[in-house]
Amino acid sequence: MPTTVITNIGSLVTNDPSLGAGPLGLVADAAVVMEDGRIAWVGPAGRAPAADETFDAGGRAVLPGFVDSHSHLVFGGDRTQEFNARMSGTPYTAGGIRTTVAATRAASDEELDANVARYVAEARRQGTTTIETKSGYGLTPEDEARSLRIAGRHTSETTYLGAHIVPPEYTDDPAGYVDLVTGPMLDACAPHARWVDVFCEKGAFDGDQARAILTAGARRGLVPRVHANQLGPGPGVQLAVELGAASADHCTHLTDADVDALASGTGTVATLLPGAEFSTRATYPDARRLIDAGAVVALSTDCNPGSSFTSSMPFCIAVAVRDMRMTPDEAVAAATLGGARALRRDDVGHLTPGARADLMLLDAPSHVHLAYRPGVPLVSRVWQGGIQVA
Ligand SMILES: [Zn+2]
Repeated sequence: MPTTVITNIGSLVTNDPSLGAGPLGLVADAAVVMEDGRIAWVGPAGRAPAADETFDAGGRAVLPGFVDSHSHLVFGGDRTQEFNARMSGTPYTAGGIRTTVAATRAASDEELDANVARYVAEARRQGTTTIETKSGYGLTPEDEARSLRIAGRHTSETTYLGAHIVPPEYTDDPAGYVDLVTGPMLDACAPHARWVDVFCEKGAFDGDQARAILTAGARRGLVPRVHANQLGPGPGVQLAVELGAASADHCTHLTDADVDALASGTGTVATLLPGAEFSTRATYPDARRLIDAGAVVALSTDCNPGSSFTSSMPFCIAVAVRDMRMTPDEAVAAATLGGARALRRDDVGHLTPGARADLMLLDAPSHVHLAYRPGVPLVSRVWQGGIQVA
């Protein structure tokens, strides 16, 4: 396979401190060589080996593709009216999910597939080269398995979220629904999922229910991740750490004990989803508190039609820097390497030789511009597995 060199890179983020300066492993006047879909060489442009094809970055910045470790892309319909009402003063509750469940059940496979394809492509144009996505709008064994099959056509990072909410037909029998989620629905979904997730929140699933669901999934080989402490304090974060979850997601309302648990080095990443607070006019999670305590932080979009309808990682970076007290370097690391750690992937999120050749060119001299120039479409080219895809 031909080799390609991207040369004349003004500023290269490698996320590998052994390759360059600081935690981001920054290299000035850099080049990257790609071969067979992998990074083959990284270093100063003047020392780059010859390659079959050359791309001139024109002094602009290159960084690893974003790893968006939390999204909900398999859905029908939209919730424009709910958003409009909320922005006109109606508070957000988890109940709006039921609207999307009804629309998803009513949608054809083709409609759902086209929807996922559309949002994955939209994310890719904005630099996302790895994306996780969840079921959770079907809530029957058939509809959840269908959602995961469709998701699996677009990403290998698929998450079983039968425990998103208790569907209307089980309102009077939540225990019966947990039996379904841990029984026949799990049987139908486990072959199509890598992860198991639960919305552990008042109005959704409590700590005991979440524990039962995550342990049942783990017995089937699915690794836990948890929607935790989004709308208020609760047991989600502690449960995630205790069960060895890859990630506790949202982490908006944390006690000191929650922060300590996330910083205890057990491998549970704190994934922050500022699009949700932005779109619900809620208080942002305090990233500074987590980082200063020593927790590993990821940034993700939570792209979903109800509470965070953005696929834009650059948007999340800008908000995290402006409102969550992250530095631009920390936010870029959280959106790339942090996401990779939340998905327990060592082949993405950095540009060490051997890693997947997933990277993007910014129409800017530095990664800092992602926060410095909010709302501006700076991602000008994207390579995925060494192939230019946007
Ligand atoms: Zn979510």
